[in-house]
Amino acid sequence: MTLVRRDGSVLPGDGAPLISRRTLLAGTAALAAAPAFAQLPPGPPKLGPNRLVLLGTKGGPAIRGYSPSPSASVLVWNDVPYVIDAGYGVTFKLTDARIPLVALRHVFVTHHHSDHNLELGALCYNAWAIGLKAPVDVYAPEGVEAVLDGFMASQRADIETRMADEGRPDLRTLVRPHVVREGVVFERDGLKVSALRNLHPPVVESYAYKFEMPGRTVVFSGDTAYFPPLADFARGADILVHEVAYEPGLEALAARNPNGPTLLAHLKASHTMTEDVGRIAAAAGVKTLVLNHFVPADDRSLTPEVWTDSVRKTFAGTIVVGRDLLEIPLG
Ligand SMILES: [Zn+2]
Ligand SMILES: [Zn+2]
Repeated sequence: MTLVRRDGSVLPGDGAPLISRRTLLAGTAALAAAPAFAQLPPGPPKLGPNRLVLLGTKGGPAIRGYSPSPSASVLVWNDVPYVIDAGYGVTFKLTDARIPLVALRHVFVTHHHSDHNLELGALCYNAWAIGLKAPVDVYAPEGVEAVLDGFMASQRADIETRMADEGRPDLRTLVRPHVVREGVVFERDGLKVSALRNLHPPVVESYAYKFEMPGRTVVFSGDTAYFPPLADFARGADILVHEVAYEPGLEALAARNPNGPTLLAHLKASHTMTEDVGRIAAAAGVKTLVLNHFVPADDRSLTPEVWTDSVRKTFAGTIVVGRDLLEIPLG
């Protein structure tokens, strides 16, 4: 809102510098004289080169610092961001990656563990708070309505106040959930996304996603135990972003934990150990394997060399040890 003071000076909102009425009128006259195209609203934000950005690379929901944060990535393709998973921290990491939140349009969630969806509602909210008016489509397994409805209910008072007070659209209708099943889940603007149910017990509704763009294919494993059908799904992909767990590190982690044996059994049954990650990448024949969703994520003895050396035993291609805000060009 713009306030005009009695003395004719203008006080714009957000604490912007004062502008005299004369300056404002002169500016308006110049705008009126300018060619029509100069008055067009600016187009969609420019997001920079097509690329994959890892936003959060730790496995599990425990927060011990700003980085690594729980699972989130983004593919930028022709100035549209495609967000994959919305773990805690995804909003700040998107801004760190210089991706304006108002550009948010599509979010894909692999499964409903909180290290992948805790910030789903809040991410949409944060985009709305900064001026988002376009719909956001959320693709996620069964249960996505409950996740979003719960968030919207928790912020009902705020949303309704800001709609009435600030003239914002209704966030609850702006965010559109879509339940993911196996097969093609999205196809638009030359970009196709397919889903494959992976193996992440006890979660049944858990998916890998394949993004096919002209001349480029990127596959995200999601959270999964060793799952050979994933190699067929990822066959020939340029980039496979695969979760990874390091068995000796898990054993050390379990030894420090009061419910160690149960934790260890869960981790081994539902995640993929380094050498098996390499086996999937080799069987798929992918060019580049990007390690992601590290378990454990906070063991300083596990240097990038430790992860690479272990995966190298079974995969001869390019291995990238992921970290938050790592960018990989897509050409
Ligand atoms: Zn996870
Ligand atoms: Zn999980």
